[in-house]
Amino acid sequence: PPKIDALEGATPVMAQFLTAKASQPDAILFFRMGDFYELFFRDAEVAAAAIGITLTKRGKHQGEDIPMCGMPVHAAEGYIARLIRMGFKVAICEQMEDPAEARKRGSKAVVRRDIVRVVTPGTLTEDSLLDARGANRLAAVAIRKGRAAVAVVELSAGAVDCVACEIGDLGATLAAFRPSEVLVTDKGFSDPDLKAALDGSGGVVQALASAVAEPVAAGGRVARLYGVASLDGFGAFEEAEVSALGLIAAYLETTQAGKVPALSPPRRSGDAGFLAIDPATRLSLEIDRTQRGEREGSLLACLDRTVTSGGARALAERIARPLRHPVEINHGLDAVEWLLERRSLRRDLRDGLKASADVARAVSRLALGRGGPRDLGAIRAGLTIAEALAGLFTLSPDPLTGPPARIVACLDRLTLSPDLARLMLDLAGGLADEPPHLARDGGFVKPGFRPELDAARTLRDDSRRVVADLEARAVAESGVPFKVRHNAVLGYFLETTSKHAEPLFRAGPESPFIHRQTLAAQVRFTTVELSELDAKISQAGHRALAMEGETFEVWRRTVQDLARPLQAVADALAELDATAALAEWAEEVGAVRPVVDDSRVFSVEAGRHPVVEAAVKKAGDPFTPNDCRLDGDGAGCARLSIVTGPNMAGKSTFLRQNALLVVLAQAGCFVPARAMRLGVVDRLFSRVGAGDDLARGRSTFMMEMVETAAILTQATPSSFIVLDEIGRGTATYDGLAIAWACAEALHDVNRSRTLFATHYHELARLEERLDHVCNLSMRAREWNGDLVFLHEAVPGAADRSYGVQVAKLAGVPPAVVARARAVLDRLETEKAAQGRLDDLPLFAVMEPPAPPQTSALDDAVAALDPDALSPREALEALYRLKGLS
Ligand code: ADP
Repeated sequence: PPKIDALEGATPVMAQFLTAKASQPDAILFFRMGDFYELFFRDAEVAAAAIGITLTKRGKHQGEDIPMCGMPVHAAEGYIARLIRMGFKVAICEQMEDPAEARKRGSKAVVRRDIVRVVTPGTLTEDSLLDARGANRLAAVAIRKGRAAVAVVELSAGAVDCVACEIGDLGATLAAFRPSEVLVTDKGFSDPDLKAALDGSGGVVQALASAVAEPVAAGGRVARLYGVASLDGFGAFEEAEVSALGLIAAYLETTQAGKVPALSPPRRSGDAGFLAIDPATRLSLEIDRTQRGEREGSLLACLDRTVTSGGARALAERIARPLRHPVEINHGLDAVEWLLERRSLRRDLRDGLKASADVARAVSRLALGRGGPRDLGAIRAGLTIAEALAGLFTLSPDPLTGPPARIVACLDRLTLSPDLARLMLDLAGGLADEPPHLARDGGFVKPGFRPELDAARTLRDDSRRVVADLEARAVAESGVPFKVRHNAVLGYFLETTSKHAEPLFRAGPESPFIHRQTLAAQVRFTTVELSELDAKISQAGHRALAMEGETFEVWRRTVQDLARPLQAVADALAELDATAALAEWAEEVGAVRPVVDDSRVFSVEAGRHPVVEAAVKKAGDPFTPNDCRLDGDGAGCARLSIVTGPNMAGKSTFLRQNALLVVLAQAGCFVPARAMRLGVVDRLFSRVGAGDDLARGRSTFMMEMVETAAILTQATPSSFIVLDEIGRGTATYDGLAIAWACAEALHDVNRSRTLFATHYHELARLEERLDHVCNLSMRAREWNGDLVFLHEAVPGAADRSYGVQVAKLAGVPPAVVARARAVLDRLETEKAAQGRLDDLPLFAVMEPPAPPQTSALDDAVAALDPDALSPREALEALYRLKGLS
């Protein structure tokens, strides 16, 4: 509760406002007053500035004007959406009773109001606030006992994920989910690993009290959320997982004001099941967003051929979290291949899916009490399609090979249980064909579904007809040109102009017209018959509305009870859509099925960059396919390739293309190439052309070194790395030295498959010095003094960098180009005179450092465990060591 002095002298409504505000101090409070939401004090100032509505004042509090702004309730959703997008939280405080009820308690009584919900970026469920093709996720991160965990809920679909991982992998694990909001404890916030993961996640961070994440309290909360006695039924959770889930449960409790969402049990997946892609790599490869944060231009947008929003979300998830186990990956590929080979089945499937609706989001809105008849309509459409599709597959004559496991699993989920079938029939028989958005105004139950409802409606409509007749009769009897009108205050009344009303006032008490109201130009009357009819109509109308409300509630509760099987149907529809879309894309661009196994091979024949190819082709140019072969075991080909070539020759396209082929293959997609074999990759790293990250106050070079350090410490022999221009951001020799040392370490220590693009041609010498290195260069040709790029990767190092030619291509004035050419000639002559870089001590044959010599004394010290020794044993150990020295 707010401090007493804040409430001092407040009007009752203001006291109510201040109390509500105190319970959600960091949210902007939308305070319901009749048909408006009003904002007061600081909230009003902040919101008025942020969304451009007029700031006014209303009354005084403790002698000061109260700043105020407001908007009609029906327009609020758009404003809320904008505030949320700007990173604000919005608390909605509603009137919890009819003003008439409050008046019954006393003339001064205030309408009861309560916060019914806190709207935050991660907890949206309204279609108008959500991107239909992207999931909206709330995540929580926790670290306990040296392990990290990420818990994620997608409220609008009821899905919950939980991943435990090493602390170092937290960033990659969190980024894979693209959360829009991330919860963390206020204590955890100061942990550097956590902080880095949060920075890379792109979500709005909310800190909760540490106590919330204590395992016992957290476990209890999660169990309550699911309505179970203990979490054990869901599996054996690590402490960090329980903490993370606990943060989510606590946040849902406050933001949903006690309403329990329909959630599936947590899907637990060790991070070992997925290809780890850290945030920097995601950004660099533009997997689901471009570097500018747009979907358009990303890999995902390029291959998305889904026809439903659920399918689009399923595809996004598949691309964002590629798998790591060949068996699972091949299951996905089997399904794509099967649909690729069955063109007409695929077309029928996609045509059917087009008619379905967003079942997942409709279900969770209804479960949270926010849905309306239109959501029931979406569920009806989804169930109808599910049934039709299940039939489509059984009908398909396919005597040779039945559908692969993944498709069969989808079909199983599409086969409706008796409960779901009953719900479908019920909605088909009772719900209007085009149901309205809101249940409030009725009109969504079909005639013939409930006889009592039909009777009430008939009574209401017949009486309306009598009212219409009554107008003609009144005019005939009185000679006054009456019109029957209706409003919320008077109900039905007879209206005429003041002039025509004149004689009626002079009529005696036997006149049937009873005066109700005089306006500037009109006068309103009623009659006994009309007011009786009015009462009848409004009673019948209320009864009809109440019955529709009951019917809606019955359906809503059924949906809530069947939320899980309904979500399973929605998931199956989404997976079929995503799979068929991948088949469609594969056919369109001529993609092939990659061979994915447990080797360390990376072998691509005529690979293409899907996004650049589409862009180049749009401009009417051909895209040059390129081969790439690496082998982590160094069998038959190099483990590390040094890629040289002039700027604009296609180096970074080549690097990214091969990294994207890894993503696609492990996501179970076909790949744009003539052939591909891939030994599964555990971690993918890409650092290509880092831009300055001034917003985070780090220079390019510092950023680059931080990211390079991450690769050197995390990459394994199963990893795949593409690196562009490491060391570029510093002085030449520094940069060259760092690039050289990194390449050596990746080759000798990490032993990962690596493509290393550089403009230091000196690095080409590594090919002679290291066992598993080969040089590649992007071909370019000089033609009449102009440079022609062939975009072709060929063995061998580039002979020169053509920087001057590129400058000319870029439109640098001819005089400057000519001068640069002259300076270059001069430098090259001088360099030739001085001797080659090779003569520098750095590049003299480098002996690997001798392994450190260890002595018996060192070994003995290493073997000691001070914690395990008694004082007496410690003393003995000391004498023993003395003896060895
Ligand atoms: P670099 O990294 O060597 O400076 P990029 O990879 O950025 O060069 O490529 C420059 C441009 O060349 C790209 O934007 C693209 O239009 C074109 N390009 C690159 N690779 C190919 C290719 N294989 N086929 C056709 N055009 C390509």
